[in-house]
Amino acid sequence: MSELIVGIDLGTTNSELAVVRDGQVQLVPIHGNPIMPSCVGLDPAGRLIVGQTAKNQLVAAPESTILSIKRKMGETIKVPLGDRQFSPEEISSFILRELKLEGEKFLGQPIRKAVITVPAFFNERQRQATQVAGDLAGLEVVRILNEPTAAALAYGGGATADETMLVYDLGGGTFDVSVVQVEKGVVEVKASHGDTHLGGDDFDQLLVDFAVQEFKKRHQVDLLGKPPTLRRLKVALERAKRTLSDEPFVAVREEYLDGERHLELELERHIYEEMILPLLEKTLECIHKSLADVKLTPAAIQKVMLVGGATRTPLVQRLLQERMRLEPRFEINPDLIVAMGAAVQAGMIAGEQRHSILVDITPHTFCTTAISRSEHHSLICVPIIPRNTPLPTSKSEVFATVGDNQDSVNVQAYQGESIWPQENTFIGDFLISGLSKVPAGNQVVLSMALDLNGMLKVTATEKATGLSKSVTMDTRGKVALNIEDARRNIAGLIDLDAIPGESAPEEEVEEEAGKGADHETLLTTAKDLRKRAEALLTRNISEDDANEIRDLVHQSADAIAKRDWEALGQQNDALSDVLFYLED
Ligand code: AMP
Repeated sequence: MSELIVGIDLGTTNSELAVVRDGQVQLVPIHGNPIMPSCVGLDPAGRLIVGQTAKNQLVAAPESTILSIKRKMGETIKVPLGDRQFSPEEISSFILRELKLEGEKFLGQPIRKAVITVPAFFNERQRQATQVAGDLAGLEVVRILNEPTAAALAYGGGATADETMLVYDLGGGTFDVSVVQVEKGVVEVKASHGDTHLGGDDFDQLLVDFAVQEFKKRHQVDLLGKPPTLRRLKVALERAKRTLSDEPFVAVREEYLDGERHLELELERHIYEEMILPLLEKTLECIHKSLADVKLTPAAIQKVMLVGGATRTPLVQRLLQERMRLEPRFEINPDLIVAMGAAVQAGMIAGEQRHSILVDITPHTFCTTAISRSEHHSLICVPIIPRNTPLPTSKSEVFATVGDNQDSVNVQAYQGESIWPQENTFIGDFLISGLSKVPAGNQVVLSMALDLNGMLKVTATEKATGLSKSVTMDTRGKVALNIEDARRNIAGLIDLDAIPGESAPEEEVEEEAGKGADHETLLTTAKDLRKRAEALLTRNISEDDANEIRDLVHQSADAIAKRDWEALGQQNDALSDVLFYLED
């Protein structure tokens, strides 16, 4: 067995630990979660607390809690924690020690060695400080690895051909972009640019400013100068910001925000996007600079990898596509990619084989149709779930009716990358009717949820009234399926006498002849069981039992349709058992 070396992403906001086991990269849960806030504190009894527990007391006890110590690494300073003082290395060592202890608990063996990642822009002092923090935590730091290199390794960089990649890393507090080149298996950061004061925290601040203005307009109360209120507001708006990555708007309600009045605010994604656009444009400038450093154009980039929680902002992905013609990859969770890459590097040092990271993603974009705002008013496809999104996923966009008193909308779902519906694959459609009779512009929220089995649930909701309709569609090439219709179908409408498979196609008759009698018996049994099941479903049985019966009847019909006699035998047995217990 190879030696155990773990990979650690010691991040500004969060830290993670990963390891290669049985050829696979595995994230190690820390306090039950793959992500641990890089937060250190002292509890009221003066005991050291690390991670989420420390973060929980951040608002209530800021003087006894430290977040973002990474920004101070390499500085010869002491930071106060309660009535004590610590160096940045010491604080970081508390974080590393917690990761080590939790990792040992999970893996059931001591952890002595680690690869720890640092930003590409970290200077020698900052790297040494990280090494010292590792030593203090009882870890031999076998390699300090650049974060963009780790990201490239996580995406299999260097595994096959030479490649040029761009790593776009937008975290809570910092942004950096790196050009990473792989040549003959060596992964190297060629250029790196960034802004150490640009990140998701700034987006939160813009939302806070907006909310403060709105509160003042509505209540003539200025929240500025009230730090505890502003901290509370920031926590609420950070949460809302995350929601805006998946939903077109979010309602924020904070009761008694100033002790007397509630904050009630609706944030719309497109307004939020206007707020953060200037900041994101700065990140595009950094990309241009780093490409210019190595005399490359965007066309020379083969892969763009997204790192950092704030890259979940849809506008980030859109700007990269539309302005830079770069197709970003986000199959690997941007919060975890660096730790995973560190684990790949650790595994390589420990002599493990090269590993791939498995992720379930959708290889196609799922879109709906809408009338374009251009002068031609053409019907175009609007992406809801972009391709390469990890599964399961759920995304929403808002649309508006085009006609006055329009009381229905035909919702269509397509799969494909084209803007033109006819060039994509049609998946299904349905009509939502009974919408309010109001002037054009009535907002309808269209949500798509795609599960690991390729089932797409499309929901249209009239925003003003909540009127909603959902249809589940099978994206694997079958016909659209209305859940309610399907339920009814399963419960009573499957006509076994008409099910294909009862009479085998001619060319197979001979081969099947000997088995015909067995099949006949299985089919007769299935028919009898279905009749008993239908009778039972009309009686007062529990919803769970009814669902189980419907499932079994459905699976039995499926087995008959596929002429899978072995499965039919099993379904018959299972259904017979259930009926036996439920029939009196
Ligand atoms: P990191 O430093 O990589 O952990 O990134 C943390 C930043 O990502 C914080 O500003 C978070 O608010 C932000 N973030 C996390 N999840 C999302 C999301 N779903 N949408 C937008 N920002 C997010």
